[in-house]
Amino acid sequence: MKQIYAFAEGNMEMRALLGGKGASLAEMTNLGLPVPPGFTITTAACHSYQTNHGLSDDLLQELDTHLTALEQATGKQFDDQTSPLLVSVRSGAPISMPGMMDTILNIGLNDQTVVALAKLTNDPRFAYDSYRRLLAMFGNVVYGLSEKAFDDVLTTMKRDKGYASDLDLTTTDLQAIIASFKQLYEQAGKTFPQAPKDQMLAAIAAVFESWNNHRAVIYRRENQIPEDLGTAVNIQTMVFGNAGEDSGTGVAFTRDPATGERALFGEYLLNAQGEDVVSGVRTPQPVAVLQAQMPAVYDQLATIATKLEQHYRDMQDLEFTIEHGHFYLLQARNGKRTPAAAVKIAVDLVNEGLINQHEAILRVAPKSISDMLHPEFDPDVLAAHTVLATGLPASPGAASGEVYFTAADAKTAHDAGHQVILMRQDTSPEDIEGMIVSQAIVTARGGMTSHAAVVARGMGATGVVGMHALSVDEHAKTATVGSTVLHEGDWVSVDGTTGNLYRGQITTTAAMVKESLATLLTWAKDASRMAVFTNADTPKDLEQALASGADGIGLTRTEHMFFQPERLLQMRRLILAKDAAGRKTPLQALEKMQEQDFYELYRLANGKAVLIRLLDPPLHEFLPHDSREISEVAQDLGLEQNQLRERMAALKEVNPMLGHRGDRLAVTFPDIYEMQVRAMMHAVFRLADEGMKVTPHIMIPLTNSETELIWVRKLVTDQIKQLVATKGIKVDYEVGTMIETPRACITADKIANAADFFSFGTNDLTQLTFGYSRDDVGSFLPDYLSKGILPADPFQTVDTEGVGAFMQMAVEKGRATKPQLTIGVCGEVGGDPDSVTFFNQIGVSYVSCSPYRVPVARLAAAQATL
Ligand code: PEP
Ligand code: MG
Repeated sequence: MKQIYAFAEGNMEMRALLGGKGASLAEMTNLGLPVPPGFTITTAACHSYQTNHGLSDDLLQELDTHLTALEQATGKQFDDQTSPLLVSVRSGAPISMPGMMDTILNIGLNDQTVVALAKLTNDPRFAYDSYRRLLAMFGNVVYGLSEKAFDDVLTTMKRDKGYASDLDLTTTDLQAIIASFKQLYEQAGKTFPQAPKDQMLAAIAAVFESWNNHRAVIYRRENQIPEDLGTAVNIQTMVFGNAGEDSGTGVAFTRDPATGERALFGEYLLNAQGEDVVSGVRTPQPVAVLQAQMPAVYDQLATIATKLEQHYRDMQDLEFTIEHGHFYLLQARNGKRTPAAAVKIAVDLVNEGLINQHEAILRVAPKSISDMLHPEFDPDVLAAHTVLATGLPASPGAASGEVYFTAADAKTAHDAGHQVILMRQDTSPEDIEGMIVSQAIVTARGGMTSHAAVVARGMGATGVVGMHALSVDEHAKTATVGSTVLHEGDWVSVDGTTGNLYRGQITTTAAMVKESLATLLTWAKDASRMAVFTNADTPKDLEQALASGADGIGLTRTEHMFFQPERLLQMRRLILAKDAAGRKTPLQALEKMQEQDFYELYRLANGKAVLIRLLDPPLHEFLPHDSREISEVAQDLGLEQNQLRERMAALKEVNPMLGHRGDRLAVTFPDIYEMQVRAMMHAVFRLADEGMKVTPHIMIPLTNSETELIWVRKLVTDQIKQLVATKGIKVDYEVGTMIETPRACITADKIANAADFFSFGTNDLTQLTFGYSRDDVGSFLPDYLSKGILPADPFQTVDTEGVGAFMQMAVEKGRATKPQLTIGVCGEVGGDPDSVTFFNQIGVSYVSCSPYRVPVARLAAAQATL
């Protein structure tokens, strides 16, 4: 079996046998790029080494043949006194394991060839510098001598001589260092082999051994890299970047890895070897300077960069060395890049004809683009701040402001021109005004679907919830985190992407979208099977979502429309009224407001579907909490405080989330849903008068059975029919239901008889499937995640095994009754890329998510289709 391949004999497809580096060196050699010649010992030889605990005779024979060929190709020879061959011996596994295994450079130097090299290059300093590097690397890798012992010799010498840098060491200094290095060998009972061939064989064995060193084993375990791949070994002719001022070494990207701009980007050092560039001892120059310093070399670099991109069809990260003005390419691979650069490069490569649109879509990680749509803290300023506490990262973004502990205080401060952050134990609908004016919202309690989290995401405000180390005292107007006490007006900074809270103000860098992302999203739209809708409660949400290309509104939570003060007052009158007669006046007031809300949404949507969900809050959310609020509300409503308390006691529920909400409200207070339908139809009529045809989609929440849906549907359709008859025009409409209880999933075939569409409410479905209160998961979920009991927060990434199985059942049963049934998902997981992949699989028609996540979901939907 052939165990060694000259670079010219391999190619990129041979990764498993030649390792990533070997395959790439072969590919580049065959492209005619200036790669220093060499050969690769296969991973199969590594296996044989591991089994036989040594290099086989066959391998040794093949090595001789390839070595001779290499000597002929380079015109140099091992141990030659005039033109000695020097090689590097490097590891290279099929899957990259950066820095985990060993490498030895300058193999072939010994007490004689170092003199020859000094003569040949007319640079004794360079020759002895190379030799001391070999001694240190070889001692460390082959004999396990400590790297630090070698470093100490160097450091002591520099200190004794008063030198600032390694470059100050003279030839004589380096010779003394070499002598000291040899003593280190002796002290350990070892000798440095003078024969280059022995050096090479020992180095090859050491690289094979390094497959099993501790850090490599750990790295493989962490990264799920199979244990049995083995590593290849690359033997390559050394070229020297430290051979004088006409030599150098550097790294370059074919495009800017931060912005994606098409321009050579990178840095280099003259008269240096590879590790000098990365070690930070000397400050490298930008490659642009090379253009002035060595124009011909720069041109060669630029030509090679283009050739590599054309060949690999992606941005490349390359390592090069210049030896006496000759350019050598040592390595090229796909370059790492920021999300913004990833988008720009993918789109540019399509425009340059290198890749197609589908490839571009698959090259960008959906999650990464959400970070592009929000501002971030300036990393340099952030580095100087310590984290006060961390909560759940509910809504991405980065914001600084003065901290306030009640919505009213936040609003007052904002109106007086302050930049504010609202910090609460938790939030309720009454806090909405304070939330709207806040740069960020932080709560001590709550999970990823708590009120604060949902509202923050909906508004695109930065949000962190469930910060358990935080304790807010709104009466004392302080918050405590460990020993730190925050007072009203103190500056804090909140990172909604990491969940971190900082003291003080941290500057942010602007959010960037932009052209390239818009282009990529248009391609994604064409490529996806599923549509992407948005959850939007206000015209502002909708505008944002439409700008990101949303296909319609998948959920308008009408209860969110009642949070403004004058509406809250009417809502309270409504809830607290004793009977239908008492509800009449507040209902009339609310109807007018709702009509205007719906009118604006329909008008903006301009023909796109708008799914309006009828009221679905636990009623207590609208009630006052403490005695101060109770007295205010009693006054507003013209009630005695006692009367108010009595009525509140009657409405109090032990488990409001499982209580009087959703269509249960319709059954007990039919006039509320009737009012909402009237408001909707009047909005439709107004638009019809203005020449716009609207098909209202009305969505019933929390349905549990066909009978229940039939009852509520009739309430809705009776109202519509009556209004349409009076108006005398034809209106198409659809009445569908949320599917958000296990029972609804199990009986979906029956429910489908009464539903024109389904939309999964995965927040409630998850809550009810797991029996986890969605508002309280913050107290135990982190432990479930850190202890590995749950793979992910099921409120953020759908639990395919349990919740997902219910969903799949509902899709199958629903479509068994109505094959064309439109089925959406409008819970929080609708914007999560992993979940989107699953929804695509089970045949969901569209996902709906907060406006800011529309681009993420769109890209995920396209990737799921491709
Ligand atoms: C849901 O339950 O997933 C849903 C979208 O409704 P809400 O979050 O308003 O209960
Ligand atoms: Mg719900």
